[in-house]
Amino acid sequence: MPDIANRLTNVAISASVAMTQKARELSAEGVHVVTLSTGEPDFPTPDHAIAAAHAAALAGDTRYPPVDGTPALRAAIQRKFRRDNHLDYPLSQILTAGGAKQIIFNAMMATINAGDEVIIPSPSWISYADIVKFAGGVPVPVACLQENGFKPRPDDLQAAITPRTKWLLLNYPGNPTGAVATRAELLAIAELMLHHPDIWIMTDDIYEHLIYDDATFYTLAEVEPRLLDRVLTVNGISKAWAMTGWRLGFCGGPEPLIKAMSNVNTQNSGGISTLTQAAAVAVLDGPQELLKERAAIYRQRRDYVLERLTSVDGLLCHRPQGAFYLFVNIAAFTGKTTAGGRKIGNDTDFVMALLEEQQVVTVQGAAYGMSPFFRLSYATSLDILQEGCNRIAAFCQGMRD
Ligand code: PLP
Repeated sequence: MPDIANRLTNVAISASVAMTQKARELSAEGVHVVTLSTGEPDFPTPDHAIAAAHAAALAGDTRYPPVDGTPALRAAIQRKFRRDNHLDYPLSQILTAGGAKQIIFNAMMATINAGDEVIIPSPSWISYADIVKFAGGVPVPVACLQENGFKPRPDDLQAAITPRTKWLLLNYPGNPTGAVATRAELLAIAELMLHHPDIWIMTDDIYEHLIYDDATFYTLAEVEPRLLDRVLTVNGISKAWAMTGWRLGFCGGPEPLIKAMSNVNTQNSGGISTLTQAAAVAVLDGPQELLKERAAIYRQRRDYVLERLTSVDGLLCHRPQGAFYLFVNIAAFTGKTTAGGRKIGNDTDFVMALLEEQQVVTVQGAAYGMSPFFRLSYATSLDILQEGCNRIAAFCQGMRD
């Protein structure tokens, strides 16, 4: 049989996709599964986005698009960056692609030479390390401990920097912990990075609008303009606007980087669906109140899950200030045995046993680079969260030494 490229040897199927697949299989067998693993909002696409896509289709806007994005969309993105982030990118410094994921992919493909290192504060979104490996680079995780709010300390970042370091990747509010960096924390990182002029910095701001309590969202390029020539500011419509299926991500960044990424874009994509682009203009330029209304609903769900799980003996929760995930420490259960007789050696055992004995789907912390934890997504209804919490509590209470 012809073989598969070596570059795929180290690239894994994402654990959250694998868990979701397992849950689908169980559901198909008629089992009542509670899925708390998916990283996507349960809200519908806003009506005005659908109307705009429909109108574009009827108007014949169905031909090949400009690969980097239509002028209308890039102008809407420019306005968004000005309005929300006080960033004034010229149109030549704005690019779109099929999701933030493809933006990140293009950035890595455009810059990484074999063996280049990419610093990834961890726990982190599963795909960063795989994309880096795919591009021929070496992911360098920097452990961000629970006691530090799952955020990197500048000294830890400094210790990870070598002459091969090409990128620092930042993601706040973060997946899987919901950590939000304060302005002061970003300034401290900026201060460090000013001493390392040969390193690109990416801020993945995809959860920008999902922010709670008194937390305020800042992005690095806005707090330290001296880094503007090295920062790639990444965002998209998937999480904020519940438009995961439309596949649109965008970024602003320094012109040489954007040009190189655009080159990659031209080879791996013919541009994004024209209908998606029309829908994106509608949400980026349209009324913004919906974002706050939905954030309030997520906050209510977070509070519910937090209260329920904090009251379960042995589970150690932190209070996420953004995104829609809870990253729960299960150290107290390692070495124990479940009601069904399964030995819990690590967090993968924990989530597998939780799935098999209580049919609740979560994802093990190991998948995000930190154990022993599990990630739960609360981007689902309160009814489902209630059922999920009941089952998780029963599972934990059933453990014995
Ligand atoms: N960045 C982070 C941190 C994510 O968690 C996700 C999705 O889970 C993405 C990017 C992907 O976003 P998009 O749907 O725009 O590709």
